[in-house]
Amino acid sequence: MAQNESVDVVLVGAGIMSATLAVLLKELDPSLKLEVVEAMDSGAAESSNPWNNAGTGHAGLCELNYTPQAADGSIDIKKAVHINTQFEVSRQFWSYLIRKGSLGSPRAFINPVPHLSYVEGDKGVAFLKKRFELLKQHHAFAEMQYTEDKTVMQQWMPLMMPGRPADQHIAATRVMKGTDVNFGALTNQLLALLGKVPDAQVKYSKKVTGLRRNGSGWSVTIKDVNSGNSRDVDARFVFLGAGGAALPLLQASGIPESKGFGGFPVSGQWLRCDNPEIVRQHQAKVYSQAAVGAPPMSVPHLDTRVVDGKTSLLFGPYAGFTTKFLKHGSFTDLPFSVRMGNIGPMLAVARDNMDLTKYLVSEVMQSMEQRLQSLRRFYPEAKAEDWRLEVAGQRVQIIKKDPKKGGVLQFGTELVAAQDGSLAALLGASPGASVTVSIMLDLIERCFPEQAKGAWAGKLAEIFPAREKTLATDAALYQKISAECDAALQMVETTPAQQFA
Ligand SMILES: Cc1cc2nc3c(=O)[nH]c(=O)nc-3n(C[C@H](O)[C@H](O)[C@H](O)COP(=O)(O)OP(=O)(O)OC[C@H]3O[C@@H](n4cnc5c(N)ncnc54)[C@H](O)[C@@H]3O)c2cc1C
Repeated sequence: MAQNESVDVVLVGAGIMSATLAVLLKELDPSLKLEVVEAMDSGAAESSNPWNNAGTGHAGLCELNYTPQAADGSIDIKKAVHINTQFEVSRQFWSYLIRKGSLGSPRAFINPVPHLSYVEGDKGVAFLKKRFELLKQHHAFAEMQYTEDKTVMQQWMPLMMPGRPADQHIAATRVMKGTDVNFGALTNQLLALLGKVPDAQVKYSKKVTGLRRNGSGWSVTIKDVNSGNSRDVDARFVFLGAGGAALPLLQASGIPESKGFGGFPVSGQWLRCDNPEIVRQHQAKVYSQAAVGAPPMSVPHLDTRVVDGKTSLLFGPYAGFTTKFLKHGSFTDLPFSVRMGNIGPMLAVARDNMDLTKYLVSEVMQSMEQRLQSLRRFYPEAKAEDWRLEVAGQRVQIIKKDPKKGGVLQFGTELVAAQDGSLAALLGASPGASVTVSIMLDLIERCFPEQAKGAWAGKLAEIFPAREKTLATDAALYQKISAECDAALQMVETTPAQQFA
């Protein structure tokens, strides 16, 4: 019998997660032989595509759900600080690659766009003010500005001000150093880089259809989507970076750690505007609070997007119910993911989240006029003819076992790894692409612990001069490294008008 091909690492999926891990591994050990396997005919074809996600460089600068308010009125800023420092770690990696000359122009994937939070009503204003006062004390948010003054807001978000009731009580915060990130362009730059280094291959139109234990590693069955032919590749380590489809592959691996996980897919839609007259008047990402009963991923925001050198506006997302795990997936994805081990948690989540399911179904059923009504909360004078509906990417939220409730729905991401470190899968979608590098560093520490502490430690320290915990506590170091990243990523101080001129 012919011997299988053999590599050190197989990465399933050519989205931002696999592309980042593959490049990082090659930086740490250039001798590693690796293969990225992608079912579609190009990279970043699912959630990492710029129009399938919002492109917000999540850094806790504007997302109100990262600073939850408890029943006693207290506000917890821990999550905002954590995500901010994780984003700084991502920026360190991108800056390192730019300085090395390994990536193209940073402007092709990251652009400065101010991040604003906007609230209405006495309760909303009181929350935002308190949140601002807390965040401002932390060095990561020292540059945040707050206003209840409508003439100031007219400068910050001119599109959003005309047509509002004169007595409306509103407030906003602004951080100028927010970003819009084209994660698709970044993914493709990383994949192109892999194409140039020895012993790294990116193979398109190839779908992973099976995984089998093979000694201390794995045999991966890869089907050519066009010819239907399959081949097996042996690998010491497998990363399941298949986005929404990571769950079924994790189940196929049969590792004990996969038991009990289920997926709750949520679809999304946006309103998009390319009318230059309107686009010109809004140069910000403005996040507000989700409607009562709405899940965190449907927090509304009106965003400047910079994709392929053109600016557009995006509003949404409008979440919806679906049974597909990928935008290009199948309606049988959800039913086929039911197993003996996860049926309990899945039923418990269905029982406890009826309101969420009803909300998602009602969102899908909305008319264009109803969608415009939501937009007019932000942009009162919005006209239907300037906006068109776009389908966003899929999110598969994690369902996991819970000793008390039987099963719970989780809105974050979770790295599930085999105990021997030979396989890892990334489940969930939030805060997503912005924190990819931190997630992959976590993977490296869990699956390659000896190398991370030994042979790779020096290189890791060179690429990442400070990690999340240090950045959260050392103000001077944070400012120094952040300024160095600003320079490498060309995040020069500009006014919004200059940026888009
Ligand atoms: C509506 C929405 C808005 C978002 N907004 C933001 C945001 O503003 N900021 C942010 O940071 N993040 C955001 N995210 C999250 C972010 O987009 C994702 O976390 C990120 O893109 C996931 O990358 P990935 O590489 O894991 O998956 P993907 O980009 O989905 O890539 C997975 C790849 O695996 C391939 N694949 C699947 N199965 C197989 C198989 N069997 N064999 C071979 N290939 C396979 C797929 O074709 C796909 O190309 C958003 C997500 C959504 C859906």
